[in-house]
Amino acid sequence: MTAADHAGWEVVIGLEVHAQLATTSKIFSGASTAYGAEPNTQACLVDLGYPGVLPVLNREVVQMATLFGLAVNASVARRSVFARKNYFYPDLPKGYQISQLELPIVEHGEMLISDADGNDKRIGITRAHLEEDAGKSIHEGLDDSSGIDLNRAGTPLLEIVSEPDLRSAKEAVAYLRKIHTIVRYLGISDGNMQEGSFRCDANVSVRPRGQQELGTRAEIKNLNSFRFIEKAINYEVERQIDLLQDGGTVVQETRLYDSDKDQTRSMRSKEEANDYRYFPDPDLLPVEISDEYVEAARATLPELPEAKLQRFVAEHGLKKDDAVILTASRALADYFEAVAGAVDATAQVAANWVIGDLSAVLNRDGKDIGDSNISPAALAGLVNRIHDNTISGKIAKQIFEAMWDGEGSADEIIEAKGLKQITDSSAIEAVIDKVIADYPEQVAEYRAGKDKLIGFFVGKVMQETKGQANPGQVNQILKAKL
Ligand code: ADP
Ligand code: MG
Repeated sequence: MTAADHAGWEVVIGLEVHAQLATTSKIFSGASTAYGAEPNTQACLVDLGYPGVLPVLNREVVQMATLFGLAVNASVARRSVFARKNYFYPDLPKGYQISQLELPIVEHGEMLISDADGNDKRIGITRAHLEEDAGKSIHEGLDDSSGIDLNRAGTPLLEIVSEPDLRSAKEAVAYLRKIHTIVRYLGISDGNMQEGSFRCDANVSVRPRGQQELGTRAEIKNLNSFRFIEKAINYEVERQIDLLQDGGTVVQETRLYDSDKDQTRSMRSKEEANDYRYFPDPDLLPVEISDEYVEAARATLPELPEAKLQRFVAEHGLKKDDAVILTASRALADYFEAVAGAVDATAQVAANWVIGDLSAVLNRDGKDIGDSNISPAALAGLVNRIHDNTISGKIAKQIFEAMWDGEGSADEIIEAKGLKQITDSSAIEAVIDKVIADYPEQVAEYRAGKDKLIGFFVGKVMQETKGQANPGQVNQILKAKL
């Protein structure tokens, strides 16, 4: 399909994000939520849905949902209600999932993203409700049978539902990244997509440009990487436009994305809410919270990414693009600020090291900023030796590698390897005299007007001094002598 075929169509997307809340125990039981345990070792009688047991709400999830609501300018309901969503599935032993329907804890929020032209665009957040996760069916490694692992059953989720305000796969990804950043800033979810702690259903429809009414949507389930979400949406958009242009109709259904084939395929026709026979769970009281509770939560809100970004530009004088990179996670932002606070150079210089050399080695070794081999204080120590002219920027890169390999602090490595910059002008002059004597032809050419040869001489002096001569002095003395 060509871009021209798209021209008459508008894409409409709404996302349902499931963020696993970072509690140590489940939403209605005391069983552990730790990832990766042996199957069925972390499911207690409540999670298994035994008769006679009662759910008890984990108070932490209320706190976490409240923080989220405040962070996205939503209203936090002073009274919310848990409901049973009835359906039969092997990984749901109770025969219903406890969720929230009519009175969710968070409603009417918003999020700003950048649209294709780089302008701010507001995306509405319809609601965010608390619910429990189901278990997991296992087919791999079992012949002729399926296994059920109920460790995940009862794991707390916050389902965050957007308005159908997104207009492209790119916008959907931008929105999702923002939600991902916010839940991690708030510390309410680890956001780990490989482990399923952060996943998303994408509702996708198209309509002729100018039409008010929404088109029929398909819902693509359980997308768990930013790349796949973008690809799945793009595939689905093309499928729907093709279908409609050929005179067909889109059916409302649930689809799965197959990343190997880069296609979506039909899974089941879409249920309506009334298929689930929702009703208030008689085992759980409504959740009532006071204004004081909400205000106390507000007081614990950390500085959020948007505010931090603006402060990094205003207070630290960073370039906006750099501030965007550094505020992508709280850990990275904190690291940068620790370096910036300890360097004599500007904060931008600190930012350059964090975004450049440090990020490169973290990437190379597959590490997070939290496991950096070099502490902020140690990195500042290195930056300060460049600032006070003890070493050149070039030598600093070599020292940085040695620091990463655990050879000690910048000062220790400079000392041990004798890497101090040569700033003694008589020493530099001596080397320059030697270079001038060694290359009479080039000297003659330079004097005849071939200015570019200055680089050649600087290179030779640097070679002789193993890169340790002060480059400014080398240039100055060379020009004078030549
Ligand atoms: P459910 O999928 O559980 O039935 P909703 O009907 O509330 O729940 O819709 C869920 C999501 O689908 C929301 O994010 C909403 O914005 C989005 N959505 C609803 N209608 C459309 C549509 N026609 N096209 C694209 N997205 C839609
Ligand atoms: Mg849905």
